Amino acid sequence: MPQSLHADVESVLLTAEQLARRTRELGAQITADYRGRDLLLVGVLKGAAVFLVDLVRQIDLPLQIDFMAISSYGASTQSSGVVRILKDLDEPLDGRDVLVVEDIIDTGLTLGYIRRLLEARAPASLKVCGLLYKERPRPAEVHAEYVGFHIPDRFVVGYGLDYAGRYRNLPYVGVLKPSTYGGESYRRPEGRT
Ligand code: 5GP
Repeated sequence: MPQSLHADVESVLLTAEQLARRTRELGAQITADYRGRDLLLVGVLKGAAVFLVDLVRQIDLPLQIDFMAISSYGASTQSSGVVRILKDLDEPLDGRDVLVVEDIIDTGLTLGYIRRLLEARAPASLKVCGLLYKERPRPAEVHAEYVGFHIPDRFVVGYGLDYAGRYRNLPYVGVLKPSTYGGESYRRPEGRT
């Protein structure tokens, strides 16, 4: 079904069909890799929520879901990697096979923090599934075991990703018109939500 383009969106980077196809592939891969394991998917709110609910239905295994919410501290225009936990997990992680589900890996600082935080809780294993991975220079390479798509270094919205709390419900991933956020620098003003 054709999707009407939101007036604030410059172009569609990933269509709903591409997202669905790749999510099926990731689900099949995760199903094969975690057979016989004690899988706990940890969604990082709010951005990863839409991807997680689609991904989880493509994993043909017994599993549990938990969520955590974090917010960035510090520098206003760039991720500082110093994050505050707004909502912690309900489940203990010791002995669990934990798969963190992230919306997008930009600098990777947030992911680094989450990994350190969760590693300290002694899971049996800890891996990361990121829907989007931005191609950009980084001080150190950031690893995610499962990646949906490598994308250019543009500010994207839709399929769970927001700008100022909006656009999460777009069924595609699109590049926001710079005029929408009023400037050349695309980084969100207040860090992650
Ligand atoms: P990092 O610590 O990897 O720089 O930041 C990752 C977080 O920044 C993501 O989880 C997301 O909340 C936000 N972010 C980074 N790039 C984008 C983007 O292009 N669009 C949106 N909507 N959020 C982004």
